[in-house]
Amino acid sequence: MLAELTEKVLEDNLKPSESYIGDRDYIGKDGLLHCGKCHTRKEREINWFGKGTRKVPVMCKCKEEANRIRDEQMQHSVLRLLTISRYVKKMKNICN
Ligand SMILES: [Zn+2]
Repeated sequence: MLAELTEKVLEDNLKPSESYIGDRDYIGKDGLLHCGKCHTRKEREINWFGKGTRKVPVMCKCKEEANRIRDEQMQHSVLRLLTISRYVKKMKNICN
């Protein structure tokens, strides 16, 4: 029961979304989806609960890089907000 439920949840979550497949993406010689931009794999095969293999989405290199940059920018924004809030607090203290 639990195994079936896990399998179902995984299956739903591993379905590639529309945005996941880019216009220029293609199926490589290995039968797996490749990124049309960086030409690295966007899928890999895993053993699916002992019922053979199943293709699952993975991040290609350019997507990984984009995520890394986004995370860095996010960190930067958080730091800036912290600095601003500290500054505001300091100014309030001075004014009171
Ligand atoms: Zn890519």
